[in-house]
Amino acid sequence: MTHLTIGDIFEARKRIREDVVETPLIRARKLEELFGGGQVWLKLESFQPTGSFKVRGVANKMRSLTPEERGRGVCAASSGNHAQAVSYMAEKLGTSATIVMPENAPKSKVVGAQGYGAEVVLYGYTGEDREEECDRLMKSRNLSLVHSHTDPYVIAGHGTVALEVYEQMKGDLDELVIPCGAGSLTSGAAFAMKQIAPEILTTGVEPEEVPRFTESLKAGKPVTVVMGNTMADGLRVSKAEDINYDLIAENLGRLWTVGEESIARAVKEMTLRGKAVVEPSGCVGIAAALEGKIDVGPGRKVCFILTGGNIDGDLLKELLK
Ligand SMILES: *Cc1c(COP(=O)(O)O)cnc(C)c1O
Repeated sequence: MTHLTIGDIFEARKRIREDVVETPLIRARKLEELFGGGQVWLKLESFQPTGSFKVRGVANKMRSLTPEERGRGVCAASSGNHAQAVSYMAEKLGTSATIVMPENAPKSKVVGAQGYGAEVVLYGYTGEDREEECDRLMKSRNLSLVHSHTDPYVIAGHGTVALEVYEQMKGDLDELVIPCGAGSLTSGAAFAMKQIAPEILTTGVEPEEVPRFTESLKAGKPVTVVMGNTMADGLRVSKAEDINYDLIAENLGRLWTVGEESIARAVKEMTLRGKAVVEPSGCVGIAAALEGKIDVGPGRKVCFILTGGNIDGDLLKELLK
């Protein structure tokens, strides 16, 4: 699978049917008052098993491995949510998982992965650190890699969320807003939406502190940026990879960056007005709306993908003050 087709995304949806749930799509009227009168729809991927959308792509990849590849055990590098999805699927498919996570990963994410029986190795702070260590373990232990963002099966699986939103909205939508880290969700969802409904605007949002795709699009090629300090731990990836850059450059309608203060406020507004617990990475689309970057004016219908709900209790408490 080198060139993604819409068929890959429909196949992914069939393949992962038993592993994912059709997550709720709800209208948030309290947020509409805040944003300017248009319709605000929330796609609650925080209600997936393991608390984030990551299970979509991971299930598609792990169910596509041969029995031999799967039987050897899998490994992955992850800031947290990919780790939990890989561990969950490994347990479900009866194999073992070895996961490399950063030393500053939220405790809930480490414990989450261990809870499904994975071996967690804490190593370094950046994506590059983790991937090097993961590569070393893969070779020395003969494991099968489940890459979090460059694997086409992962990208296709993540793209299924766009099909689901489209169907739940019965096609009646103006804009889909997608949190963007390493860009596999943005790649898959923007690609799928452009194929099935090119009239719906797709918008990616990344932290100002790590603007890898904003800078890459400016440069006209994938670049690596300096890792800033963002509370959105699922978006702490400094390097844009080719496959994600190509899909984003070709399919995504728009891309914004947001500041840390807006991300913090977005978590609070989501909890108190949206009535949903969402982690900082999952809130960057809401943060962009708070900054006035998303048009949610009268007559518009905008859907925000809330990508995950795995936030440590202490951080949530701090942000609700
Ligand atoms: C992984 C993740 C993202 C970003 O997805 P990418 O495919 O890396 O861009 C956003 N939100 C949450 C909650 C995540 O776990």
